[in-house]
Amino acid sequence: MFTVTTGQLLRDAMASIEQAGTGEEEPAPVLLHSPPSDRAGHGGTVGWHPLVAIAAAGHIVQHWSDGWQHKGPFEVEAGSPAGRAAVLLYPGTPSFASRRLEAGGHPSDGIRVRELCGHHGCAEDAPAGPGSRCSAHFSDPVPTWRKDSTYWARIAIDAWRTKYPTRGEEKTLLDNERHRLIEGALSIGMRSSDLHETTGIDRAAIDRIADPQRAPEWEGHPLDGPA
Ligand SMILES: [Zn+2]
Repeated sequence: MFTVTTGQLLRDAMASIEQAGTGEEEPAPVLLHSPPSDRAGHGGTVGWHPLVAIAAAGHIVQHWSDGWQHKGPFEVEAGSPAGRAAVLLYPGTPSFASRRLEAGGHPSDGIRVRELCGHHGCAEDAPAGPGSRCSAHFSDPVPTWRKDSTYWARIAIDAWRTKYPTRGEEKTLLDNERHRLIEGALSIGMRSSDLHETTGIDRAAIDRIADPQRAPEWEGHPLDGPA
């Protein structure tokens, strides 16, 4: 298992930049060794540009700062040497949920640092900040001080609601994201009435997702009603 800390990333990046000096030469990459993988193009040594390493370390310090534990060490969970991208995993403790981020790129074509769903191996975005779970993983274990098994669903719903603050009609027009959120929350046993309350999504829309077999609700004029 190859592990790394934020301090190590910063030290290696600074050493490489210093060594390259002010010339035209590319600084030596910061090397991360990712485990072998069945996926083509994955597994092996990923060379992060030093500025990618600094961006990833900076992101961790800024966003994973609710405990010194989160400064590392991190496991390198996966890597794509060709894409120069690697996933760092903080495996978590009973009280801190696991956290993951993907970083890669090059200063000339854009450095990317992305928070991933905290579930090992999942490539979805984290819906509500570091360690949060995508709708497929709402049933993941929650940190020990959280007694509520709907914790992951609730923070995702809060984040979604902040993103789409309006109530009612407009929300019925939203997309797959809304659908997955509702499906995920229903699958861990949240009730339609609770979901209506916490999301502001129309109750009939939630019921249709809960029970797609049911006849669709008639939405036209009452006088044109279904035969
Ligand atoms: Zn996930």
